[in-house]
Amino acid sequence: PPDSEELGRATWTFLHTTAAYYPERPSPAQRANMLTLIRSLPVLYPCTHCADDFGQDIKVNAPDVSGRVGLSKWLCERHNEVNKKLGKATFDCAKTDERWKDGPGD
Ligand code: FAD
Repeated sequence: PPDSEELGRATWTFLHTTAAYYPERPSPAQRANMLTLIRSLPVLYPCTHCADDFGQDIKVNAPDVSGRVGLSKWLCERHNEVNKKLGKATFDCAKTDERWKDGPGD
């Protein structure tokens, strides 16, 4: 199976960066495609229990694809759910732009 830590870091990097650069006012097509991207994770993400738990989470917490601010916050909260499950520190969702858009990265 894939290295789940490496896959996780890469996937979060892709998702948070894509959210950080998502339009303030997305077109209907951009919203629809973002919803499809998010909803495809529980179906396709190659860590089955991760995918199942994420699918349950997004059933309860509907994706906010209204614009970059809402999407970045929603995604940060979903990542924090995983952080809590794994006993990791939670991330301050006021700092998503600093980490994923404006900041130097790591
Ligand atoms: P990661 O959690 O990968 O985070 C990478 C970087 O993102 C951090 O260094 C930090 O700078 C930043 N960051 C951290 N939290 C946030 C946040 N809330 N918002 C914005 N930025 C943040 N692993 C499992 O073992 N079990 C699971 O059930 C599981 N489910 C997953 C579900 C999904 C959808 C994804 C994408 C990954 C999942 N993973 C799971 C992998 C796990 O979340 C981590 O990616 C992996 O453990 C490596 O962790 P890490 O400490 O290197 O940092």
